[in-house]
Amino acid sequence: MLMEFQTKLLHGKAVDNYANGSTVPPISLANAFAYESSEQLEKVFQNRAPGFAYTRIANPTVDAFERRVNELEGGIGGVACSSGMSAVTLSLLNILQAGDEVIAGSALFGGTLDLLHDLEAFGIKVHFIPRVEKALIEPFLTDKTRAVFGEIVGNPALNVMDVRETADFLHGKGVPLIVDSTTSTPYLLNPIQYGADVVVHSTSKYINGSGDAISGIIIDSGNFSWSPERYPGMKEYKKYGKFAYLVKLRNGIWRNMGGCLAPMNAYLNIIGMETLGLRMERVCNNAFRLAQALEKLEGVSVNYPLLESSPYHELAEKQLSGKGGAILTIRAGSKERAYKLINHLKYVKIATNIGDVRTLVIHPASTIYIHSTPEAMAEAGVYDDTIRISVGIEDIKDLIQDFTEAVESLGEE
Ligand SMILES: *Cc1c(COP(=O)(O)O)cnc(C)c1O
Repeated sequence: MLMEFQTKLLHGKAVDNYANGSTVPPISLANAFAYESSEQLEKVFQNRAPGFAYTRIANPTVDAFERRVNELEGGIGGVACSSGMSAVTLSLLNILQAGDEVIAGSALFGGTLDLLHDLEAFGIKVHFIPRVEKALIEPFLTDKTRAVFGEIVGNPALNVMDVRETADFLHGKGVPLIVDSTTSTPYLLNPIQYGADVVVHSTSKYINGSGDAISGIIIDSGNFSWSPERYPGMKEYKKYGKFAYLVKLRNGIWRNMGGCLAPMNAYLNIIGMETLGLRMERVCNNAFRLAQALEKLEGVSVNYPLLESSPYHELAEKQLSGKGGAILTIRAGSKERAYKLINHLKYVKIATNIGDVRTLVIHPASTIYIHSTPEAMAEAGVYDDTIRISVGIEDIKDLIQDFTEAVESLGEE
């Protein structure tokens, strides 16, 4: 049965019947799960019987969360992680080894940029390109390229990747496309439908919704054929067919690095994601209307994918269900003006997060990007006068008024 998004969230196949008719899943906080006999525990340990042994390896509440996100994304399975960064890291380390190369967008979340530089110490070379698109990828493709990584809607550059075109091109070259879909969320698009091979989310953001549980997830499409010649680590997992990537991840680097999600956070995410459709509808509308209002004001420039002034206007319309997401950036002219504008705002929190029900703002250059060079910052769409706004669910009239007053206060010097 085909279901629309918000119905699927509440009544999909992955939504279990919980004990006693409980409408929300129980929170299983136990570290360990006991069995009647050694024989039974042996079977569970060897994946020969269903069940849970130890929460770092699998947990019922985390499992419920993984299945729900996987159903929304249309993957073959998911592995939840302790954070979005953990998901990004492990999605790559699951297939990489020293000597390998990755091509990545340079307009990435700051933490991901830092991570990709960290990988160099392990012999993994990363080539950065300003946008993840065919023409820019091509010159860097070598027989050592093992993955292309990018964000679908870059945070905070707000450049939009053409997932279908990129995936089709890469598949012709035998290279997988791994996407971070945090800012686009399953509500705006399912990257797997557009050809992405592996999808990661920082579920700390929109999926959680209230900003109360750091977490991440890796969803596998099952579509990429991992050749053992290019991915020697995959050799022993070939027998799992389309599940090879997931089984390797779950039984290998994810489990051994201990990047599991805490059951309490899985629970908070399940509760939060039940309103994902509602919240996204609201925050996308709010963001678009705020962007349109700010565009009319003197003294600031606005970047938002749905605005006609954005080069990604058409692609956003086509690929993101006609929506532009909940993030916009404005440039205020100088760092001082940016700070003054931010400090004038009444209905925002000055905080480093996105995807909260509250509107949040930050000056990225002095915070998230402090480890980046000015050139790298510019490539990520971050300048000294850039303000990132993560639009919340407040009433849009109040937000527009608040921002308008703040912008107008700049002119009163
Ligand atoms: C926040 C974020 C991350 C990192 O997620 P954490 O949960 O903070 O570790 C990765 N990618 C994007 C696009 C993000 O916004």
